[in-house]
Formats: sequence, structure tokens, C-alpha cells
Amino acid sequence: MKFNRPLYYCSECKTVVNELDQLLFIEPETSKGFCSERCIEDFYNPLITHFENLEKKIREELSIGHEMIRSSLDDKSLIEAVISEPGEVWQNKNELNESLFTYIRHFGDYSAVVIASVYNEEASFVFFRTLTRSKKFLEQFRSPERDNKQIPKSDPERSFSEEDMLFMQELENKKSRLLADLLIKRTDNDIPFEQFTDYEDCFQDCLESPDEVFESKDKEGDTFFIYIKSFLRNGFNFFYIISCLKRKDTETPEDVHVFPVLAFPTMDVELVRDFRSGSKIAAGPLKN
Ligand SMILES: [Zn+2]
Repeated sequence: MKFNRPLYYCSECKTVVNELDQLLFIEPETSKGFCSERCIEDFYNPLITHFENLEKKIREELSIGHEMIRSSLDDKSLIEAVISEPGEVWQNKNELNESLFTYIRHFGDYSAVVIASVYNEEASFVFFRTLTRSKKFLEQFRSPERDNKQIPKSDPERSFSEEDMLFMQELENKKSRLLADLLIKRTDNDIPFEQFTDYEDCFQDCLESPDEVFESKDKEGDTFFIYIKSFLRNGFNFFYIISCLKRKDTETPEDVHVFPVLAFPTMDVELVRDFRSGSKIAAGPLKN
């Protein structure tokens, strides 16, 4: 260690480390790095308490009190189930560009809520989780920034085998990761989520006659096709992007089946550039 070298240290205990990659992070684009899991917990524990107190206060205000709800899953599995396959994902961003993500999953007569930070497209630290049957309480977690309407539903007419179920689960996992990633990359002046439904008619057009199709692999080695098409409407120029997951067909490998995972409109040229990665292919094969 020398005086004239860059200084990196743990935000909690201030231990100095030699290299940046010796620090652990729970959120992107932050200076808050930690030397150990223990320091992450010590640093964020007061926020866990904050959320617990907030829950108590809001439950009192809504006269809900403590609800006796028993999940068949243990705490850890429940959190994983909610994050990997959420029914809703909401982003809560402050003016320092720090974001927390709220995942909600509905089970039978109750819902589970998990608030977590996201790093490298994965939930990195859980700040809060609760179970509730109260619609009013659930409403408290939904931020105005987000709805999930733009996600196309997969083909409902197929009869489901167990393999199909597993693939559907995989699709859901991919979807929540892509969504979290998109929320991070989106600029605030882009087309608002609430208006995505106004662009749904671009979906078919984009799939059938895309301007460009890119093929790329994600971290898990799964192949994605990215369909991009530009539109001009009433003098307003925008792009429509669809991320499709390729399904490997073991019986007839020459058949390519792709499933839309995420579709959305954007005006952000930078974001489009981001999606134009991998190898460019001719207008892609689609069988859904
Ligand atoms: Zn430390």
C-alpha cells in the first residue's frame, strides 16, 4: 500500500482494501462498498428497523394489526419464491439515484411483499418482507412509477406438460431480471410505464417485420432474440423492443421456438443501443 495509490475502504468499518474488487456492493453506481457480509448487515440494519417500524405504524393506521398468516414455505424459500417469480415489481427511486425494488407475489388468499436492492440484475439485500390479506395495506407498496401491463402473456392454448411448467417458471425468472435491469437503465424522461398499453399494437408489427434482430446469450447461457423496430407516429419517433427467449427443442432441433419475455416502447436511443448487442441476424424466425 502506498500514499499515491487509489484508496478503497469499507463504508461500515473503514477497513482499507488493496483493490476495488475486494469490496462487496448491494447496489449499482454507488460509493457504498463493504469488506464483508457482516459489515453489509451492520450498515443496513437500521433501515430494516425503519421498515419494521413503518409497517407497525401503517398497520395501526389501517386498523389491520398483526395478521396470522402461515406460509408453507420457510422464510428464505418464501423470499426466493417472491423475487424469482413476482406478480408485480415496483421501483422506488430517490433523487440520489438509489433504488429499492418491491416484489409482490399473490398466493391463494394472501400476498407476500419483499423489498430488496438489486445488483447485477439480482436481488442483493432484503430490507423487508411481510405477508398480508389486506388490499389497502398492499396498496401502500405500489409506487406510481410502475405497472406490469406491457408484459405479453404467453400462449394460453398449449396444454401444459411438466417441462412446459418448468419453462414457464424460467420465463418468469428471466422476466423479472430483465425488468429490474430495464428499470435501472431507463431514463426519467422516457415513455412512462402507464402509457405502455397505448403502444401494444406495435407488438405484432415489431415481431413480424422488425428493422433488426439480434441474437445474444445471457449470463446463464440462454439465447435471446432482440426484435427492434422504429415507428413514426404523428411526427413522434420511437422504438419498440421485444426480448424473446429461445426454447431448445430436443426432439426437433431444427425448429426454433421463441417466447416474448419483455416488450416495451422507448424514445431513448442509448437504451436501444444497449439492446443492439450480440450478433445481428436476418429478420428472425418466430414460432410461438
Ligand atoms: Zn467492513
